Amino acid sequence: MTEALLEVDDLKMHFPVREGLLLRTRKFNRAVDGVSLQIGPGETLGLVGESGCGKSTLGRCIARLYQPTAGTIRFQGQDITGMGGRSLRPMRQNIQMIFQDPMESLNARHTVGDILAEPFVVQRMGDRAWRSKRVNELLNIVGLPARSASRYPFEFSGGQRQRIGIARAIALNPKLVICDEPVSALDVSIQSQILNLLMDLQREFNLSYLFIAHDLAVVKHVSDRVAIMYLGKIIETADSETIYRDARHPYTQSLISAIPVPDPHHQPSRQVLQGDVPSPINPPEGCHFHPRCPIAEARCRQREPELRELNRDHLGACHLAVTG
Ligand code: SF4
Repeated sequence: MTEALLEVDDLKMHFPVREGLLLRTRKFNRAVDGVSLQIGPGETLGLVGESGCGKSTLGRCIARLYQPTAGTIRFQGQDITGMGGRSLRPMRQNIQMIFQDPMESLNARHTVGDILAEPFVVQRMGDRAWRSKRVNELLNIVGLPARSASRYPFEFSGGQRQRIGIARAIALNPKLVICDEPVSALDVSIQSQILNLLMDLQREFNLSYLFIAHDLAVVKHVSDRVAIMYLGKIIETADSETIYRDARHPYTQSLISAIPVPDPHHQPSRQVLQGDVPSPINPPEGCHFHPRCPIAEARCRQREPELRELNRDHLGACHLAVTG
């Protein structure tokens, strides 16, 4: 990979859990618990895991919507972990987010024109005429007619609203866009349109994406590399092709077996996981995956596996994963 645009090192986001009459903090929700990753210019890293694994929290930490508990976030070599207020403003231009539910992230009482002009107002860019021209350009880029500017979000379909969310995210010409389940709430036919739009924009503007999803099928066609997350940690990462062809962690293998195959005569046997993701407030001892792992051994309950190199640029956290 060329020099990283984003470098995350040992990032932790532990939310205090307040209990009892005095609301004392005795426990922490370890939503993100020591994550390291890198994203290069123009690259897409797919981040996959079940609901509650911490992937959205990680995205919000990188976008600096949350102040991480520990670790570092470097953007273009600059440490932005502790930045706040004014010093964070230029960084907000460069790192933007697209959310799962555009209806929740778009202000329903504002017109689309006002919503798209807002980033320029916040950054004190241009006058009213310039902003109006930029709004029309943005609508054109995401495939919406210029008349959309005078309408309200509720007047659009889910796919069109996501186009508005994307237009807002790219308004300030960011370098990194964190896509937090951007197609999960959309019909399958609309999903591919939005994914194609995101890939077109990436080519045109050399965008980098952190693409968060809960199933591997969605990220398969858009990611250069994939990281699998489980209970606040990355448990396997490799380039996209390797993850789908040669997954070595039992959790990744089960996610891959759940990807639908179009050929009805060649259906792979599905590895259905038992139980739910354990609570990040009280994770299991040893390997956090052991209560659900079909091949767990005694040592898995005692010792947590480290994320280690299994092959070139292929890391995995499993005592039984083979190397080479
Ligand atoms: Fe399963 Fe053990 Fe590997 Fe964890 S370390 S994934 S429990 S085999």
